[in-house]
Amino acid sequence: MYIFAGIIILVVIIALAEILPMCFMHPLASGKVEGTDIITLKNRNNNLFLIPSGENWIVIDAGSDVREIKLQMERLSIDAKKVLGVFLTHTDYDHVAAVSLFSNAVIYMSELEKQMIDGSTYRQPMKKNKLPETCGADRIVYLPDNEVVHLGGHSVRILYVPGHTKGSAMYAVDGNYLFTGDACRISRGEIKVHPYTMNRRQARESIVKIKKELGRYEKVFTAHYGQLQ
Ligand SMILES: [Zn+2]
Repeated sequence: MYIFAGIIILVVIIALAEILPMCFMHPLASGKVEGTDIITLKNRNNNLFLIPSGENWIVIDAGSDVREIKLQMERLSIDAKKVLGVFLTHTDYDHVAAVSLFSNAVIYMSELEKQMIDGSTYRQPMKKNKLPETCGADRIVYLPDNEVVHLGGHSVRILYVPGHTKGSAMYAVDGNYLFTGDACRISRGEIKVHPYTMNRRQARESIVKIKKELGRYEKVFTAHYGQLQ
């Protein structure tokens, strides 16, 4: 009897630990980001970002809800086939789902994050990250730290910020905008370690790196907590 009650309590605690952090997330509303030409789509509790490039687009992260993203893109007359590249900050399920929509895009991610999808590192006990099946290895370009990709008239620099996942990264676009993914959260205007983090020591070191970078950019976007500046 006591064992049974103990198991129930444990399951409730684990469930609360999973769900509670989501209640404090506050992604941006879908639409054009004020003062920029960036479009963001809110899906469930996060944002993906579309940056125009003439008639084409580059995308930062790929959201969690394929149907919702498809619908929102249709409403905005954005053709998913015109996405040239998708830059993944990491490979958690809520950042990769809609990659399947962007069938012509090259997929960029950090070389360090490869271990999260090749089976060598588990996200949680019994749980591995994976990309949608349509993302063959031939579509993925793994980037070393600080590499700059020139695509569609934009320059995109990858900066490694591991901790949340083993190979989490952020992207600086055109030297103006910084996209931190889940390398940090925002609480009362301060940046802090994001929930669901694999290595808190590394994540804290990454936060020091993010703080050093902040002054260089006009705007800084997180995936779940809106804009920092
Ligand atoms: Zn994540």
